[in-house]
Amino acid sequence: MGGDRLLTSWIEVKSESDFPIQNIPFGIFKSPGGKVGAATRIGDTVINLYALARHGFLDGLEIEAEVFHRHTLNDFIALGKPACRALRNRIAEIFGNDNSALREHPELQSEIMISHEMVQMLMPVQVGDYTDFYSSIEHATNVGIMFRDPANALLPNWKHIPVGYHGRSSSIVVSGTGIHRPKGQTKADNAELPEFGPSKQVDFELEMAFITGKKTELGQSVSTANAEDHIFGMVLFNDLSARDIQKWEYVPLGPFLAKNFGSVVSPWIITMDALEPFRVPGPGQEPEVLPYLRFEGDHNFDIQLDVFIQPENQPQQRVCHSNYKYMYWNLAQQLAHQTVNGCNINVGDMYGSGTISGPTPDSFGSMLEIAWKGTKPVKMADGSERKFINDNDTIIMRGYCMRDNLRIGFGEVKTKILPATQ
Ligand code: MN
Repeated sequence: MGGDRLLTSWIEVKSESDFPIQNIPFGIFKSPGGKVGAATRIGDTVINLYALARHGFLDGLEIEAEVFHRHTLNDFIALGKPACRALRNRIAEIFGNDNSALREHPELQSEIMISHEMVQMLMPVQVGDYTDFYSSIEHATNVGIMFRDPANALLPNWKHIPVGYHGRSSSIVVSGTGIHRPKGQTKADNAELPEFGPSKQVDFELEMAFITGKKTELGQSVSTANAEDHIFGMVLFNDLSARDIQKWEYVPLGPFLAKNFGSVVSPWIITMDALEPFRVPGPGQEPEVLPYLRFEGDHNFDIQLDVFIQPENQPQQRVCHSNYKYMYWNLAQQLAHQTVNGCNINVGDMYGSGTISGPTPDSFGSMLEIAWKGTKPVKMADGSERKFINDNDTIIMRGYCMRDNLRIGFGEVKTKILPATQ
């Protein structure tokens, strides 16, 4: 599947657009009049799926129009992949160049189509549970070198277990949401006692997250072979972190308040079907993993990822160019591991990849690594330096796949770091 690669739309799509008619992502939008509902997007045009359904364009798909008249996509996603595929095929048909059913009815277009600049995008799903993995070998190695032992950078379990922790879903927010610098406990290496105050080391983590679309019952496990059947799609994910708080709190139970003050997602969920043409093999896994983590086929994806920092009233400056394909543990292994003990999953759960670092310093996915623990500050265009993120800096992440002139993108996830609250 993945649609007709040569199909073009009667909606204008610029060549650098992330949203050609082969993409057909899903999101939740709010109209200028305050109406909220499900949408897809072609080029710069947002398509109101409830309006599309009410005007009969989705007749015969056996999807109730009401499922698009909600504040989240959860009920739509729960209909399953066959329903989603049928809908994506129908959308490609309606907006394909040779179809005049809507193209020649401007009075309907004004109800169904709206410029992306006119709408506000909201959280696409209600996130039930959130897991964050730690699946980039380059990132885990860098952190191990900086904080533990260069000779034994990876802990003994790392190549056997897709290491992860259960995070918090209440603070996962959509792109455009500003996040206040967190306050908390930190302790300098030479200090006897901890102190309390605003974090001095706010960082981004370049991640992607997958969203599950099919629930399991407690006690049930998902195999690597069936994992993608349970995955609806993916988003960009900026997992903000306060490194000084993290360093003091994380032993013995792992990340806590350093990681739950805000994680930001891109608003459009890109389906696994749209990503199909961009499958690539992952890195070799040595030593061989346990049987429940073995897999057939390719489960990595060639997704180019960029991170920019934009100081207040300054141009944005790229600080990282990485790729999702570097992931050591793939999403099928992550979901198989998550459920191997019988832990149940629900529709709308979110699974962060962990920071996605590549092999070279310009591909590191966090300021911690880029500025190497503060020893290699990044020079900004205005002459200032960054070891971490300053107040009023905006962090922007973008991601897209490109092959044979087909570009499938994620748009962007953007967030401004606001001063700590009083
Ligand atoms: Mn993370």
